[in-house]
Amino acid sequence: MEFDDRTIIDSDGIVNLERVPRSMVVAGAGVIGIEYASMFAALGTKVTVVEQRDRMLEFCDIEVVEALKYHLRDLAVTFRFGETVASVESRPEGAIATLKSGKKIPADTVMYSAGRQGMTEELRLEAAGLAADKRGRIEVDDYFRTAVPHIYAVGDVIGFPALAATSMEQGRLAAHHACGEPFPAAAQAPPPIGIYSLPEISFIGRTEDELTADNVPFEVGVSRYRELARGQIIGDSYGVLKLLVSLEDRTLLGVHVFGTGATELVHIGQAVMGCGGTVDYLVDAVFNYPTLAESYKVAALDATNKMREIARFS
Ligand SMILES: Cc1cc2nc3c(=O)[nH]c(=O)nc-3n(C[C@H](O)[C@H](O)[C@H](O)COP(=O)(O)OP(=O)(O)OC[C@H]3O[C@@H](n4cnc5c(N)ncnc54)[C@H](O)[C@@H]3O)c2cc1C
Repeated sequence: MEFDDRTIIDSDGIVNLERVPRSMVVAGAGVIGIEYASMFAALGTKVTVVEQRDRMLEFCDIEVVEALKYHLRDLAVTFRFGETVASVESRPEGAIATLKSGKKIPADTVMYSAGRQGMTEELRLEAAGLAADKRGRIEVDDYFRTAVPHIYAVGDVIGFPALAATSMEQGRLAAHHACGEPFPAAAQAPPPIGIYSLPEISFIGRTEDELTADNVPFEVGVSRYRELARGQIIGDSYGVLKLLVSLEDRTLLGVHVFGTGATELVHIGQAVMGCGGTVDYLVDAVFNYPTLAESYKVAALDATNKMREIARFS
């Protein structure tokens, strides 16, 4: 692809755009593609998202992704799932994206966000006895050691989740291990994931689909922002927080948030999970009123009420 910072761009080229495009094709519905699709749609750009898979953000809660799609469609975003951009032709007045199915989509700008590559090509890894996969990624063990144990790799170059916070922490942990310092057990805890779509998505832990696939029994507690005073004050009628609670020991298995402040709110769940807390802590805790944090108490009450019903019927 000939990137020209105007008609055919990647996420770096966005900052060089001289004006907000009237129309845009986003090739790839990963985190970055969906974040930019949200931003430009909110600015009035007519966005078409083309994604070769049948769904997007498949590592997120499916209900949350459905809610996001509803909101983006409301901002005039068109989704083309199961489709691939085969070619893009740049013209003075814009670009034409041709899909493998033969469809043509004219747009001021086409943005490619079809995944990131590790920049390992020029490192001559083979001279150190290492190799990268076809996306330039290097394999590591639980301590971030590569196949050559005195060489460590962290950050995007080792793949998922490829986030700023996790990359920094991986670097700290690798340094700990390399220098013989204790390797904290908490290092195995799952990191929070934040997606700055409009509205925001954030979660920590497992999804309903993953737990179901692994036959882990759980109950769901839901709180909707519109039931909270703060949700009504800020006019967020769509936000939702969902707790996945273990039926075995009442611990939190996952926290999924969609709506205002999701990427901040998730940290309350992270703290409870990290300290091995149960849903009962959230039922008994008093939260400031009016806040979105109260959604934890409402969702915890919802989950425990359902669990009480199960106990009553058993
Ligand atoms: C558009 C976009 C939005 C993002 N938004 C978020 C977000 O909201 N939140 C979040 O947590 N993460 C976000 N990320 C991901 C985040 O930026 C990365 O996970 C993080 O920067 C990874 O850090 P890193 O050190 O592994 O790699 P990088 O930050 O890419 O740093 C690698 C550095 O190495 C340099 N380098 C490469 N090859 C060589 C070489 N041969 N010699 C010397 N130097 C070299 C590169 O120039 C670069 O400066 C986003 C990424 C993108 C692309």
